[in-house]
Amino acid sequence: MLNSLAELEHRRAAIAQQISQLGDLRPGSISATSGRCGKPSCRCHQPGQPVHGPNLRFTYKLDGKTVSESLPDPAAEHKAEREVAEFRNFQRLSHEFVEVNAGICRLRPVGEEEINAQEKKRPQRSTGRSRRN
Ligand SMILES: [Zn+2]
Repeated sequence: MLNSLAELEHRRAAIAQQISQLGDLRPGSISATSGRCGKPSCRCHQPGQPVHGPNLRFTYKLDGKTVSESLPDPAAEHKAEREVAEFRNFQRLSHEFVEVNAGICRLRPVGEEEINAQEKKRPQRSTGRSRRN
């Protein structure tokens, strides 16, 4: 159990170091698809012929849209698996990073920096964003 400010700050630095050492990462999922392709002339559309697959695909979101890439060989599959696993490591570390930071915020006494910051928040002169405009 980490309970002193110094211990928490040490832990935070260690997590930041681990995050900086992560390899390539990206969110997404790997799935297998099989079925008939879009070419009506392909043999997969003939009765009694086998359908394609299973083909592995990597699916992810890009600008809010779902994008899917084929994983044509085991090397591509392993690369995608590595990237997704590293993304999970990042999620775990970032979650812990926030938790440790929240603990630091709870323990950090109000010091001069915070008092100065509060002084700065008081408007010295009217700005465009002032409600009294
Ligand atoms: Zn086909």
